[in-house]
Amino acid sequence: MYTVRKLEAFSATALDSAVRELLAALEAEAQQVSSEAAWKDFRDRWMARKNGILTQVNELWLKAAPGPQKREVGQRVNQLKSKVEQIVEAAQARASGSGTAARLQQERVDVTLPGIRRPLGAEHPVIKTMHEIVQVFRNLGYSIGEGPEIESDYYNFESLNFPPNHPARDTQDTVFIAGQDSKPQRDRLLLRTHTSPVQVRYMEQNPPPIRVVIPGKVHRSDTPDATHYPIFHQVEGLAVDTNITFGDLKGTLDHAMKALFGSAMKTRFFPSFFPFTEPSADVAVTCFVCGGPGCRVCKMSGWIELLGCGMVDPNVFEFVKDKGYDPKKVSGFAFGMGVERVAMAKYGIGDIQLLFSGDVRFLEQFA
Ligand SMILES: [Zn+2]
Repeated sequence: MYTVRKLEAFSATALDSAVRELLAALEAEAQQVSSEAAWKDFRDRWMARKNGILTQVNELWLKAAPGPQKREVGQRVNQLKSKVEQIVEAAQARASGSGTAARLQQERVDVTLPGIRRPLGAEHPVIKTMHEIVQVFRNLGYSIGEGPEIESDYYNFESLNFPPNHPARDTQDTVFIAGQDSKPQRDRLLLRTHTSPVQVRYMEQNPPPIRVVIPGKVHRSDTPDATHYPIFHQVEGLAVDTNITFGDLKGTLDHAMKALFGSAMKTRFFPSFFPFTEPSADVAVTCFVCGGPGCRVCKMSGWIELLGCGMVDPNVFEFVKDKGYDPKKVSGFAFGMGVERVAMAKYGIGDIQLLFSGDVRFLEQFA
């Protein structure tokens, strides 16, 4: 490593040679500087006021020069000083330049790489179907009614005309809340087995005439299989007015099924039984798969059962008679459908459990 040596002579030749030696060393060291940190060490080594090489040059060359030569040595040392400053400065530009280049290289963004895909959420096929059904009835001027999932025996059964020993009240069908034995039966809590209790709740709050559609989640103590699941969804409808007839019911549901599934859809009504309607009917629609001729899905009948419905039983109106529902003055119809059943028919899903498995590969198909 270069050190400043004492001059034995102060002649021009001797000075030239010493300056050449110094500058050669300086250039060589400047070439080695490749970072900011290295450059700072390099600068201090050559230019530090306290013991830098230029300071040493001042001491060993200029101050040591005999009187007559001081002037010339002084000029040479000044020239040398500005030369050193120049070279040190250039080294800094190079060092920081190469630092920037390295950083640019490191932080380089490859604009040709594919972007990061952030998938958007979508409605679950059950919720989507439920919204579609509700929308059909909203377009007919129906309001939306909602009620609690934890319901009392009164709203879920008694006010809907379920006789005390009706099998639906059996624990095999209904999930009861534990520890209710001390309460009277009508106050005991359970998970609602249908959305129908909201009919009574809605009539208690709203005098006739009413048109209401009631979407919601219901519970039964079913063992899961291809067509049963302990949780499912229903959309219930209720229309009460003076002079509502079975013809209104048929027309409304026929229109709703065509609005939901297409104008080629036909409906068929045949007798059934529900405690809260009289007369009652099941509604079948044209088979989604074969369109009528018969196939395995419709068990060769050409029809798929999709809804239950009927005229509101006057006994139900008796429970809300004081709210304006005099069974001698008003009549109405009610209907209900399982949303999963509609979704399965619409999309050709063979197993209801797929709708609750949370498998994204399955659900993505409906996004
Ligand atoms: Zn069929």
